[in-house]
Amino acid sequence: MMYFGRPPVGRFAPTPSGRMHLGNVFAALLAWLSVRSRGGYMVLRMEDLDTQRTSEEYAQLLREDLIWLGLDWDDETPPQSQRTEVYQQYFDRLKDMDLLYPCYCTRSQLHSVNAPHLSDGTYVYPGTCRGLTQEQRSAFDRAPSWRVRVPDKLWKFRDMVQGGYAENLVRDCGDFVVRRADGVFVYQLAVTVDDGESEVTEVVRGMDLLSSAPRQMYLQELFGFRHPQYAHVPMLLAPDGRRLSKRDRDLDLGQLRSKLSPEQLIGILAHASGLTPDAAPVSAKELAQEFSWDRVRTENICLEAKDLAIL
Ligand code: GLU
Repeated sequence: MMYFGRPPVGRFAPTPSGRMHLGNVFAALLAWLSVRSRGGYMVLRMEDLDTQRTSEEYAQLLREDLIWLGLDWDDETPPQSQRTEVYQQYFDRLKDMDLLYPCYCTRSQLHSVNAPHLSDGTYVYPGTCRGLTQEQRSAFDRAPSWRVRVPDKLWKFRDMVQGGYAENLVRDCGDFVVRRADGVFVYQLAVTVDDGESEVTEVVRGMDLLSSAPRQMYLQELFGFRHPQYAHVPMLLAPDGRRLSKRDRDLDLGQLRSKLSPEQLIGILAHASGLTPDAAPVSAKELAQEFSWDRVRTENICLEAKDLAIL
């Protein structure tokens, strides 16, 4: 079931492991425009499950960068690192439904046996540990990760940017990990629980997460959450076709803020995405007045050298 007919609830879900780069700014801008152009509610959530790579200093810089960009929010929900007990409850529910099993495969076993699958580097899991007996399980002397069994079912949805998308998890993903061997709950579980509990009605994020949506839809169904609408926005590429990443220090907001006004930066992104006829400076608020998903380009966006020269 989808949500219709009431103001949307959207979210920013950044990982505070570095300064925002242009791609993050772009996804955040579209998430904000989609919600604010329809009078909706915006939630901020720090996705800091990976406590080694994330920090409160970066979280604070992210908040300041969003404010500088003019992208505000109504509520900040607790960071994922503080929600282990909640995730544990949902994990236990899956266990009670008899949908979980321990997996003892090592990373190198998984990589050697299987054919590569998704662009995110994950593999179709062949179900190696699915049918292990209790005796076989106790023969391992290491902690297992935990996988959820997936049904042979097609998960279909209409993405607001990409159009129709469908995946059968059996064929395209296999049983997937919800808790790692070190006890950390994985992104798929945490994001489903957090979006569900915040009653998020639309998820706007980078195209690289498109193939995560069916896994999240499956978990939503198991937990009794409604499916949000999805919008997976194009990736921003450097002029040579390379994906921009946190490694491009010169394109992170730490650098960009010293050279540009927020309106200049948003003007360049709005033009590159198809929202405006030229790259004239514009504020997020002004763009919200005429925002429509129909105008957002679907293919990856290669920034032009002349844009980068100003950046
Ligand atoms: N935390 C993820 C990131 O920063 C986004 C996850 C999501 O939007 O579902 O890439």
